[in-house]
Amino acid sequence: MKIQLKAFRKKEDLKKHLKSHAETLFYASGTSTVIPYPNLGKALKGKGFEHLYMGDLNALPQKMDFAREGALEIEGPVTWKDARGFCLSHGRNIMVSPTEELACMLAGIATSASGERSFGFGSLREHVTEIEYLNFEGKEQTLYSKNLLINHPLFQSEEGKKILEAYQDSYKKYDGFKNAPFPRLEKETDLMVGMEGQLGVVTRAHFETIKDETTRFLFIKLPKWEEDVKPHLEIFYNAQNFRDHLISVELLDHNCLSYLPDEEKPLPAGYDVIFLEVKLSSFDLIIENLIPTLTLTPDDNIFEMNGDKCHHLRMLIPRFISEVNQRRGVKKKGTDVQVPKESFETLISYYRDFSTKGISYNLFGHFGDGHLHFNFLPLAEEEEKCQNLLTEFYKKIKSIHGSPFAEHGIGLLKQDFIAPFLTKVQLEMYRYLKENLDPKNQFFPQGFLNLSRGKKND
Ligand SMILES: Cc1cc2nc3c(=O)[nH]c(=O)nc-3n(C[C@H](O)[C@H](O)[C@H](O)COP(=O)(O)OP(=O)(O)OC[C@H]3O[C@@H](n4cnc5c(N)ncnc54)[C@H](O)[C@@H]3O)c2cc1C
Repeated sequence: MKIQLKAFRKKEDLKKHLKSHAETLFYASGTSTVIPYPNLGKALKGKGFEHLYMGDLNALPQKMDFAREGALEIEGPVTWKDARGFCLSHGRNIMVSPTEELACMLAGIATSASGERSFGFGSLREHVTEIEYLNFEGKEQTLYSKNLLINHPLFQSEEGKKILEAYQDSYKKYDGFKNAPFPRLEKETDLMVGMEGQLGVVTRAHFETIKDETTRFLFIKLPKWEEDVKPHLEIFYNAQNFRDHLISVELLDHNCLSYLPDEEKPLPAGYDVIFLEVKLSSFDLIIENLIPTLTLTPDDNIFEMNGDKCHHLRMLIPRFISEVNQRRGVKKKGTDVQVPKESFETLISYYRDFSTKGISYNLFGHFGDGHLHFNFLPLAEEEEKCQNLLTEFYKKIKSIHGSPFAEHGIGLLKQDFIAPFLTKVQLEMYRYLKENLDPKNQFFPQGFLNLSRGKKND
């Protein structure tokens, strides 16, 4: 298979390329954990394609502005880091905060990004009010979140209405998830959200922002989760009542913290930490009403941490982990599961079982949302064992009605695992979307929307 790079410097060049209908995987910062960019040829082998363009969007012109009070308008490959800086300089802030802040915001629409602040503010999908994209003919199309998809021209036919109604019905059991096993498809803007660039190229969007407010961070020192998870779970359950006051509830386990150089470690070795990001205006309320309910955690184990230091730690940990992995030749096998509140303890019991398999691992993530990243760090000879463990794991996740990939998407690496979560209702919708919005099958044709081709699950 031949993979050919093509960079776009002007929107007009991009339009011209789209009119040629050449099969293309567009990319922005290339931080996706589910597309193996350096080994793309290997990952695409046997998928029946001879040629693919890698469409580099990084050289397109960038723009940031406030379209109206609080609505941040982004054009081109603007990163989260730059957008946050821009907002802060205007006394505002963005509500989503992916750990990888060099990722692009418009790509975040394509992956339905979320992050630690989703506990308080929800995922990116909820903040996008307007999206412009280029369709298969290179034409600009605009979508508005205020318009329901059921009124969109695409769904006015008898067939379209029927497919959408069945799809929305099937989504009901996942209401409340950040990202279910399949995209939301409720509002017009959802046609681009979580679609991983398979229906068009997002070129401009509006994001609701909030007035910037100082926040404070509480660190809670905890035993290793494998040995005693009760204090962690007490925080999980009790924090749910304070969603209006807490912005994030995040876990970093003792394994993650062990990667840090000694001078950066916030705790002695052998402890987990859960940190709470608290709105300044709610700090006293949290101290008086949430903290006293944490009966399994001694008061001395709860302390305030400087916000900049906390942010710095969050950035450092993935970097150190990936550096050590590269050195050891480890290919991380990550998980991205979110489960309903009532299944969270069960999810942790699966991870505890993983921890006994003799393979290196770590656990961190969006604890308050019941959404964690358990990462196996296998040596080459342990990779197959890991893959088998994960196959069994996803069967269990399906049986407890969890969402297997709540944040990082499907890409190329998770397609085998997602397939059992899809029924003919979703596959029908995928087929319908591809036929109508990508009739030449030019947008990332190896992506999950084409799982509908040749697969007929019940
Ligand atoms: C250390 C680390 C931490 C991470 N933490 C988080 C996190 O907290 N939350 C989270 O959500 N993700 C996280 N991610 C995953 C990743 O950063 C996100 O998926 C991010 O949105 C990808 O952005 P990107 O610019 O790198 O996109 P790319 O990797 O370049 O592309 C990702 C996908 O989006 C499509 N795409 C890109 N741009 C466009 C466009 N303009 N129009 C249409 N399709 C497009 C591509 O075709 C591809 O399918 C993390 C990744 C790493 C490595």
